[in-house]
Amino acid sequence: SEVLLEDLDHVGPATAQKLKDAGFNTVEAIAVASPAELANSAEIGESTAAKIINAARQAADIGGFETGDLVLERRKLVGKLSTGCEEFNEMMGGGIESQSITEMYGEFGCGKTQVAHQLAVNVQLPPEQGGLGGSVVIIDTENTFRPERITQMVKGLSEKHGVEYDPEEFLKNIHVARAYNSNHQILLVDSASELANELKDSDMPVRLLIVDSLTAHFRAEYIGRGTLADRQQKLNKHLHDIQRFGDLFNSCVVVTNQVMSKPDAFFGDPTKPIGGHILGHTATFRLYIRKSKGDKRIVKLIDSPNLPDGEAIMSITTDGLSD
Ligand code: ADP
Ligand code: MG
Repeated sequence: SEVLLEDLDHVGPATAQKLKDAGFNTVEAIAVASPAELANSAEIGESTAAKIINAARQAADIGGFETGDLVLERRKLVGKLSTGCEEFNEMMGGGIESQSITEMYGEFGCGKTQVAHQLAVNVQLPPEQGGLGGSVVIIDTENTFRPERITQMVKGLSEKHGVEYDPEEFLKNIHVARAYNSNHQILLVDSASELANELKDSDMPVRLLIVDSLTAHFRAEYIGRGTLADRQQKLNKHLHDIQRFGDLFNSCVVVTNQVMSKPDAFFGDPTKPIGGHILGHTATFRLYIRKSKGDKRIVKLIDSPNLPDGEAIMSITTDGLSD
């Protein structure tokens, strides 16, 4: 029952194409756009843009109210994905939650990509072993996905569980796409949704979406003060898309964000993740990871809607994450 852009009032084929070219691929994306934004992208007047946005809001059925019992009903489906580290899991109230965005931020080399790899393995396990019995989509913006690392972690898991897992089988349930720039990255969420739709009724539905790194392309492409609003608007839409992915597929969403060891003029405070405000309010769980002695890392839960702030120590070894 997907509504197409062409189905909306005031949207002809040419306008639909212009909207798509500008990255407005779904009715939802249009529903949350501003008239000015849409008018610029599709070369239409602002009043037409406003009418299209209204039509999209009705079609997408967004912005409506929901009663608490319905929210509770959906919350009952929330799954918890084990990180492989008990302390970390406990801090998260059992594990990484589905239907939420979990942001991991920290300096280069702190282990964000390692955690992402481990989650891509763990999600495939059945719930009684800390998984969600599903597959994973990885949007890789820094070319840091390494199948060899997955193989090591699966071997580590085999030892831990005393079961002979086949790394190849795990690799087959990891769907990776390189994102070449921020626009491509945004478009890949649509592709991810298509894939998740295809796999919805399979025995390995998508239960984890990873965007590693969420902000690197945005940071590289939007340089200078004048571009800040534009960047935030795009990032905001992107986050909206991935949150929706999480809700729609009862999937975990894990994104990474690098902080600078050396502050630069534009991105400011080194202990603050880039993306600033918007990211802060959209990510449901924010984790700050920093290096400690040897293979130890300190993971700090910064704020969450229902959990106390806390700290956990994890180790990153060849076998993967552990206590
Ligand atoms: P980030 O994504 O936060 O920049 P990474 O996740 O790439 O950082 O972490 C890199 C670190 O992970 C390395 O410095 C090393 O400590 C650890 N690491 C990477 N691969 C392995 C491995 N095969 N065995 C043990 N530790 C590893
Ligand atoms: Mg990384």
